[in-house]
Amino acid sequence: MDHFGIVDGELHAEQVPLGRIAREVGTPVYVYSRATLSRHAKVFREALSALPKVHIAFAVKSNPNLAVLRLLAREGYGADVVSEGEMNRALAAGMRPEDVVFSGVGKTRIELVAALRAGIGQFNLESEEEGVELAELASDMGVRATCTLRVNPDVDAKTHAKISTGKAENKFGVAYDRAAGIYARLSALPGLEMRGLAVHIGSQITDLEPSRQAFLKMGALMGDLRAQGHNVTHMDLGGGLGVPYKAGDNLPTPADYGRLVSEVAQDWDVTLMFEPGRVITGNSGVLVTEVVRVKQGTGNPWIVVDAAMNDLARPAMYDAWHDFAAVNPTGEAMVANIVGPICESSDTFAMGRDIDAVKAGDLAVFRTAGAYGATMANTYNSRALVPEVMVDGEKWAIVASRIEPAAILAAEQVPDWLD
Ligand SMILES: *Cc1c(COP(=O)(O)O)cnc(C)c1O
Repeated sequence: MDHFGIVDGELHAEQVPLGRIAREVGTPVYVYSRATLSRHAKVFREALSALPKVHIAFAVKSNPNLAVLRLLAREGYGADVVSEGEMNRALAAGMRPEDVVFSGVGKTRIELVAALRAGIGQFNLESEEEGVELAELASDMGVRATCTLRVNPDVDAKTHAKISTGKAENKFGVAYDRAAGIYARLSALPGLEMRGLAVHIGSQITDLEPSRQAFLKMGALMGDLRAQGHNVTHMDLGGGLGVPYKAGDNLPTPADYGRLVSEVAQDWDVTLMFEPGRVITGNSGVLVTEVVRVKQGTGNPWIVVDAAMNDLARPAMYDAWHDFAAVNPTGEAMVANIVGPICESSDTFAMGRDIDAVKAGDLAVFRTAGAYGATMANTYNSRALVPEVMVDGEKWAIVASRIEPAAILAAEQVPDWLD
C-alpha cells in the first residue's frame, strides 16, 4: 500500500500534486511519501511483534537519503551499513552507534578503524581474514569489536542472479561447512566478542521457502556452536523481502515473513536482527519524468522521457520492471516502448508496454522507485544528478538538490602540462 493516487484527475503524492513538484523542481525528480515510509516501518515492526527480542537495522544502501534515515531513526530503526560513508550518514541522521550494523565483504582497514572509533554495535564479518584483521585493530585500540559471522547457507533465493547472495558461488559470507571452525578460531581472539551468526540470501525475495531453508540451516548451526560451548546471543536474518513492482503482483507480506520467522526461530532464545531495505522504501517513492517526445518507429512508438538509466538504473542492470503511469491520465491507453535519452540501447525502461496514453510534454512516473533508485544514480552523459523530494501531507521539501553538470565540471581540472 502507498500514498500515491489520483485526486481530481492528477496523480498526487499524499496531498501534493506531482505537477506542482515537477514545475518547481524540474524533472526528472524522485518523490518520496513520508506517510508510506512510516507505514512500512510500522508494518514491518508489527509483523515481528510476536518475537521477544528484535532489532531492526534499515539497509541504508536501498535509500541513504538523510531525511529518509532521520524518519526511520524516529521510528526506532537502526542501520545496516556497507561503507564508512553509509555509517556516517546513519550517525548524521541520529541513529545511535550501538544500533548500527556494518556489513560487506570489503571493509577496509580505514573503515574498520572508523567504525571502531564510532563504537558501532555490530560487525558482520564476511571472512576469517576480516575477523583476524579486525581483532588486531581492536586490540591495538584497547577495545573489543562485537561481531557476528556471516554464513553463506548455499540456498538459492530464486531471485535475479545479480541480487542473489546466498549461493556457494556468491562472494558473501563463509561456507556453511567451515563456519563452526572459523567461529571457534575467531572467538579465541582477544579483540573480538563473537555473539552470533548472520545470513542474507538475496534481495527482491518473492518466495519464502528459500528463506525457511536458510533460517533452518542457521538454527542448526547455532545449535552446534552452543553445543561446543560458544556464546550465541544474536542471530541476524538479513533483509531481502520483495515488493510488488507490477500492479496485481501477489507477494509474501511482512506478516507472512513474520510468521515464518516465528515458526523457525521461536525458541532460539536470541535477539533476532533484521536488515530490511526495499520493503521499507520501495513503494515509498516514484520517479517523476517528462515526455520529451514521441517518436514513431517501425513498431511501437518510442516514448522518449527525460529520465534515463543514470537516474534509475534497475531496468538496465537487472531487467527490472517499473510500472509507468501518466500524472494526468486521460483514460486512453497505448502500447509503446519507453526509453531515456542516453546513448545506450540498455537505456530502455520498457518494450511493448500497455500504458496510459502520453504525448510530448506530459508528465509520468515510474512507480516503486524508492529503493535502489536515487542511490544508484550517476551523471553519465554529463547529465545532472537527480534531485529528491519528500512529501508529508500538504507539505513538501527538497531533500537532495539537483547537482548540475556545471558543478561536476567545476570539480575537474586540466593539468598545465597538457597545454
Ligand atoms: C542489500 C542488503 C540488505 C537489504 O536488502 P533488501 O532487499 O533491500 O531488503 C540487507 N542486508 C545485506 C547484508 C544486504 O547486502
